[in-house]
Amino acid sequence: MNSEKRVVGEPGLSNIGTLMEQYPVLLFDAYGVLVDKAGPLAGACELISHLNTTGKTYFVLTNSASRLPGNMASGLQEMGLEVPAERLITSGMLLEPYFEAQALTGKACAVLGTNESVEYVKLAGGMPVPAGEDAEVIVIADQAGFPFVETIDAVLSALFRRLDAGHSLHLVLCNPDLVYPFSPGRYGITAGSLAAMLEAVLRERYHDRGLDFVRLGKPYSPIFEEASRRAGTRDMVMFGDQLATDILGARRFGIDSALVLSGLAQESTADWPEDMTPNYVLESLAGIEE
Ligand SMILES: [Mg+2]
Repeated sequence: MNSEKRVVGEPGLSNIGTLMEQYPVLLFDAYGVLVDKAGPLAGACELISHLNTTGKTYFVLTNSASRLPGNMASGLQEMGLEVPAERLITSGMLLEPYFEAQALTGKACAVLGTNESVEYVKLAGGMPVPAGEDAEVIVIADQAGFPFVETIDAVLSALFRRLDAGHSLHLVLCNPDLVYPFSPGRYGITAGSLAAMLEAVLRERYHDRGLDFVRLGKPYSPIFEEASRRAGTRDMVMFGDQLATDILGARRFGIDSALVLSGLAQESTADWPEDMTPNYVLESLAGIEE
């Protein structure tokens, strides 16, 4: 698959026009590739408009589980990016296939996240319960939307009670990102850090029971599987600005990837780990006329 396209080890400088012709399906990260805090990044609006007009297949893959696709699409449209909601694949949307596969419909779920994160759980068929009540499923969707320490304490206590009683438990993490870059020099912790903290606590108390969160977003495979399912092919190229999520995820899933250098999380081109080396490097997404 795509063997003639692979140049892993020494990524070549490419451009969006060339890659658009080479691949039937394009996957884009949102933050740092299409937009940043200040608005659309260079070339993004023209590119999306061109893709919509020509009917090219593309999807936007985001680890966010804090907003529903319709609201996220509205936010992008306000910035001039006409991405239809059906082109968005959020980590929150992956709860539905997960709940179906694990037969979790109707199960009590403790949800860490925003009101819209709770909506994602309901859409997946879960039954959200207040933090601290007995729950068979713990969903960490987002780091915002709840009183932090109080909620963690309540969830942890309910977790211990359940495990001590010998009951089963599903731990699900939508957004595996550990850190979120606000602006140059400013960072915040993300949902993945909460899961890492709970896992450390569970390891200390329950040792070898393998109580780890199932991770749905990049760099893990469920989000790429959903893109592949919708696209009907694995012949896709992932455009991202982060080696540890976008590029590693694409590499693990076995598709090609392009690092876009226009984002906030600019990466040094020196000493890339082998499994985080993209096939291509792009200065930006600019170059497509509307
Ligand atoms: Mg990004």
